[in-house]
Amino acid sequence: MEIATSGQELRRMTKALKRPMVLVPTMGALHAGHLALIAKAREVAGPHGTTAVSIFVNPIQFDRASDLAAYPRPLEDDLRACEAAGADLVFAPDAASMYAPDRSVTVTESLLSRGLCGAARPGHFDGVCTVVLKLFLLSGCEAAVFGEKDFQQLAVIRRMVRDLDLPVEIVAHPTVREPDGLAMSSRNVRLSPEQRAAAPAIRRALLQVAETSSTAAEACATARAIIEASGHARIDYLEMVDAETLQPVERVTSPALLAAAVFYGDVRLIDHIRIEP
Ligand code: AMP
Repeated sequence: MEIATSGQELRRMTKALKRPMVLVPTMGALHAGHLALIAKAREVAGPHGTTAVSIFVNPIQFDRASDLAAYPRPLEDDLRACEAAGADLVFAPDAASMYAPDRSVTVTESLLSRGLCGAARPGHFDGVCTVVLKLFLLSGCEAAVFGEKDFQQLAVIRRMVRDLDLPVEIVAHPTVREPDGLAMSSRNVRLSPEQRAAAPAIRRALLQVAETSSTAAEACATARAIIEASGHARIDYLEMVDAETLQPVERVTSPALLAAAVFYGDVRLIDHIRIEP
């Protein structure tokens, strides 16, 4: 497995690598969800292609300095995990090599990124689009794998690829969960034992609502009650949106998503469920 630590180095290395190259962008602290994305990338790359993983805690997508500072960075473990998962190349730059101190160009998606996490975390999706475009350009990947857990991110990136004619195929992978239903996240390790025990309530609430509720207001009230009853939770948002446009809906007349962002202490977790009409 090769390791590049600057964009220049990555560009040099990728010239000699076999195509197609499939990239898995991550912020590290890899868990089984990331590893499933790497396995998917291997499959898409085929027997002769290249699987690349980027590990970069992108400072410009964080809206809270405390979240950025507390983000776990176990790089040695991550490199071992990438190698074991069959990655051919890891790109692990530092922030100084990714961003000039006077950088002044940002990619903005202005529709799908307005609500949900975009509203709760100002500037977040500008940071995501900017870094993902840079990663695509530096790696020259033909395809990239993203998790459905971050469904708004996936929608925003697909829109960026469409609107900027980027020659990259976007491949989605379903959310990977802990046995108790909690969506795997690099932030889960920061939960206290009590918060960790309470957090599966998010998934339980979404599952229950998907089966029972008819209107968005009812669905959100039911989910809120279940999550709050389990304790330790502060709900950031609970919202029902159209699965395609991500605009709020009042009832499910076409495929919809019920999406939740919940704080446990300082740790913000997201999850969602798809609801068919
Ligand atoms: P992150 O390191 O959190 O930026 O995530 C990197 C990629 O892994 C993104 O495409 C995420 O959507 C994806 N991902 C994170 N957690 C999961 C999960 N539990 N299941 C599937 N994909 C995930």
